[in-house]
Amino acid sequence: MTLIVSESPVLDPRTLAEALQLRAAHPEAMPLAGGTDVMVYLEAGVIDPPRWLNLWRLNALRGLSRSGDTLRIGALATHTDIGRNADAQTLAPALVEACRTVGAAQIQNRGTLGGNIVNASPAGDTLPVLLALDAVFELHSAARGERRVPAAAFWQAYRKMDLASDELLVAVHLPAPGAGDHTHYRKVGTRLAQAISKVVLGARVRLDAGVVTEARVAYGSVAATPVRCPKTEAALVGRRAGDLAAAADLVAQDIRPIDDVRSTAEYRRDVAARVLRGWLGTLTA
Ligand SMILES: Cc1cc2nc3c(=O)[nH]c(=O)nc-3n(C[C@H](O)[C@H](O)[C@H](O)COP(=O)(O)OP(=O)(O)OC[C@H]3O[C@@H](n4cnc5c(N)ncnc54)[C@H](O)[C@@H]3O)c2cc1C
Repeated sequence: MTLIVSESPVLDPRTLAEALQLRAAHPEAMPLAGGTDVMVYLEAGVIDPPRWLNLWRLNALRGLSRSGDTLRIGALATHTDIGRNADAQTLAPALVEACRTVGAAQIQNRGTLGGNIVNASPAGDTLPVLLALDAVFELHSAARGERRVPAAAFWQAYRKMDLASDELLVAVHLPAPGAGDHTHYRKVGTRLAQAISKVVLGARVRLDAGVVTEARVAYGSVAATPVRCPKTEAALVGRRAGDLAAAADLVAQDIRPIDDVRSTAEYRRDVAARVLRGWLGTLTA
């Protein structure tokens, strides 16, 4: 493999292969997608990378496509692209709803799903939905080619993830909903727009003849990473629709919220259970 080495402060690849070679040759270069997170950090003096790797021209990272039972979303798909896509509206309505609550129109037009995932904020609005929908992330490197990582294994600690320094996130794969699947997204913030979440919920429950056979409950802003709730999920499986709401009492055992400038741990614990309880109560056989 021949590595392209460049002296330019902005590396501007036109193909994925070129981008991956530049990524390997220039680990100091920060990938730049829509820039809605990194420009804020730059202005605040939190980061000062010596180089940028501009991803914006990479068509391989754009677009949404349906293939059989899977929806593939390019990492550069913006929140607006996802919100307006007919396949996403049919196959992943909870993700569409999440994308429509990110910032406001300007941010949705520029901010990407890949940027939301790799920025890895515990408050990222799409992240609990990706957990609830069993998303799988497609990562590429020049040296090792493609590998896939389930969302549930991706965010490992505060802003630490299973992404090597020579890799790029290329796409997100979402399985189509199964028969009997019900999904939900709920963001609790200070305002309806331009609000960072105090609590954000993504959930999926599969009902077969009125009984839960599979459950996913995931939250953002209640721990150092977006989290699934194994105790709550286990309590839901086997329960009948109409008798699900009590499982929300276990949420407090699954999350580890903190007090910060946006909210208190106590409020977050209370609201996290309340929004789940409210939705579960609407599910009927
Ligand atoms: C005013 C404002 C309001 C906002 N409101 C919300 C909100 O309500 N909810 C919310 O969740 N977020 C919000 N955000 C944060 C931000 O808009 C989102 O996280 C957005 O999805 C980031 O995407 P981006 O393309 O701009 O990422 P960038 O800023 O370009 O990149 C973010 C990080 O991801 C890395 N990266 C990007 N793409 C890739 C890739 N393909 N492979 C590897 N690394 C990559 C970058 O190196 C960087 O570390 C807001 C931001 C602003 C400025």
